[in-house]
Amino acid sequence: MIGAVDIGGTKIAVGMLDRDGRILSRREAPSGPGLALSDGLELIFALLRETSRQAGGELEGIGVGCTGPVEALAGMLQRIEFLPTWEGCHLTAELQAAFGVTAFMENDADAAALGELAWGSGRGARRFIYVTVSTGIGAGLVLDGQLYRGVDGAHPEIGHHVIDPSGPLCSCGAHGCWESLAAGPALAARAGLPGALQVCQAAERGDAAALAAVEREAFYLGLGLANLVTLYTPDVIALGGGVMRSRHLFWDRILRTIRENCGLVPHEKTRLVPAQLGGEVGLAGAARVWITRSQSSI
Ligand SMILES: [Zn+2]
Repeated sequence: MIGAVDIGGTKIAVGMLDRDGRILSRREAPSGPGLALSDGLELIFALLRETSRQAGGELEGIGVGCTGPVEALAGMLQRIEFLPTWEGCHLTAELQAAFGVTAFMENDADAAALGELAWGSGRGARRFIYVTVSTGIGAGLVLDGQLYRGVDGAHPEIGHHVIDPSGPLCSCGAHGCWESLAAGPALAARAGLPGALQVCQAAERGDAAALAAVEREAFYLGLGLANLVTLYTPDVIALGGGVMRSRHLFWDRILRTIRENCGLVPHEKTRLVPAQLGGEVGLAGAARVWITRSQSSI
């Protein structure tokens, strides 16, 4: 069995999976800026021991998906907004020392892309992009089974490509990047409601302001996706994340925006599909990181 660790801004999930992606055991605990590195490591170790005992198999290795930025190939955490004291932590080395097995790490969106490719919406795709839309927009790109990496292994930040330079300022420093215009908080702000879920519920009831915000959301999502289709003409783009639980509200407008903006590429051949792993994508992705990396020399 494979140990999986999914480190996010608000929670850490840990579990054991078999090689077919089935979750044998899982536990989670809250994380956040208040969680010091030493306590966080102890927590992860304890959850791994507990879920390992529960599942009862032999631990082969440990995969990690971590909110970024991370140095994926080295297995180190960089300056992460949600976990400020963890900067410089060589997490995979800590895990290898504690458990005596190999450990590998990727950015969480890249990990999720590997999970969806192997066990979910991307099965069989040669050129696959996974996009998650929740409090931010994350994405991972897999070409011929290989995660696409930038220089020095950098994770490309597809969620922060600029859609409208007159748009709002993002924490990334750009104005009007995709995340600032189309992630959950942008949708909520546009409708004047606390969260994306409330906007979607109000739109279901026919609320005019919520419907207008949903229309705008779908347009901006569609613009970013149209850019991905024009740049990469992938076989499949999968959409996941909390906002996409209400995807029926956005889907037609997204497809229309892609049609209207991708005149030079065979956009009709790119399949836009819902992600399939839902709440399991974090652990499945982390396990898949270990399987993928342990099979290659990268
Ligand atoms: Zn940004």
